[in-house]
Amino acid sequence: MTVEDGVASKDANQNGSPLLEVRNLVKHFPISQGIVFQKQIGAVKAVDDISFDVKSGETLGIVGETGCGKSTTAKLLVRLLAPTSGQILFEGQDVAGAQKGDLTALRRQMQMVFQDPYSSLNPRKTVGSIIADPFIIHGLLKESGARRKRVQDLMDRVGLNPEHYNRFPHEFSGGQRQRIGVARAVALEPKLLVADEPVSALDVSIQAQVLNLLRSLQRELGLTLIFIAHDLSVVRHMCDRVAVMYLGKIVEVAPSDELYGFPRHPYTGALLSAVPVPSPSGGRRRDRQLLTGDVPSPANPPRACRFHTRCPKAQELCSQEEPLLESKGTVNLAACHFPLTEEEVKLRLPTALHRPDASTNAHGTPRVEDQSSSSST
Ligand code: SF4
Repeated sequence: MTVEDGVASKDANQNGSPLLEVRNLVKHFPISQGIVFQKQIGAVKAVDDISFDVKSGETLGIVGETGCGKSTTAKLLVRLLAPTSGQILFEGQDVAGAQKGDLTALRRQMQMVFQDPYSSLNPRKTVGSIIADPFIIHGLLKESGARRKRVQDLMDRVGLNPEHYNRFPHEFSGGQRQRIGVARAVALEPKLLVADEPVSALDVSIQAQVLNLLRSLQRELGLTLIFIAHDLSVVRHMCDRVAVMYLGKIVEVAPSDELYGFPRHPYTGALLSAVPVPSPSGGRRRDRQLLTGDVPSPANPPRACRFHTRCPKAQELCSQEEPLLESKGTVNLAACHFPLTEEEVKLRLPTALHRPDASTNAHGTPRVEDQSSSSST
């Protein structure tokens, strides 16, 4: 089973047709040489053939190290970047190939919260006009009094004082600026919200407030959320399902509890192993799986399995044959020839397998005997 018939069929079965379908999405940034006569000498393969679905009302997390392509994926989904190839379907409509008029209509349903609350707001505009922009662009609420009333309602909803309507972004704190960004993103009540590391630029004390705001808006507006982060603990509590990216590829997709409870891909295991344990002296001893070596250049990624230069389980096959993203005996889909075994997970992540019944998954589905891990080292 591959990602196309694995992730897709599983999602479609759970709740009808997916809201968003991504198929073989590719984004390569050309590398050129020469001053007058420029010629392309290579490409940065930021996103390289990824496929996934997102159901209506679901929260999908996308995690990975810096440079793995998660932010590029976010921009491709809302067409802030044009893909090199591949397909993005939003309610069956082609996003990747949409022309200007169709794209404007689509963007009313798909909005984005940006990582940096400082640079994502125009410093010359008042908060009122920033949040009112979506209504003006889409020709809604043309009467200024009604528009102002709606903007002030939105400010109140996201926890800002509506009396600060005429203030400028620099008069707000980082957390308040991110709330302005959230208010602008939900102004048109979109169906899909793509949040690109929305709390990573904020103080820890503020992060929980913004996350709670996103959760409550999701429930209230019935939003579908794609939540991009490098903080695994944040993703766990926000997301129904998590996709792990490495060097432009999705290497593992699983329901949140499954991914944290029984990661199958060694890269996912290494990410989880790096998360500090709150009480190391009270917990069981664990053998941390530390990654060695630098992340390879996305302009020249390793052949076959891209993780093989850093993987502690790498064997000869890993550098010869690219592993497919497929089921590994659990509900997890992992792109690995030799996925982590339960013993390895117990050793490296002793807190991970703490579930009511390890013979079932987080949803009570019995585990299938894993054949693929028997040949692992
Ligand atoms: Fe490691 Fe091989 Fe799996 Fe790649 S395919 S993650 S190198 S074990």
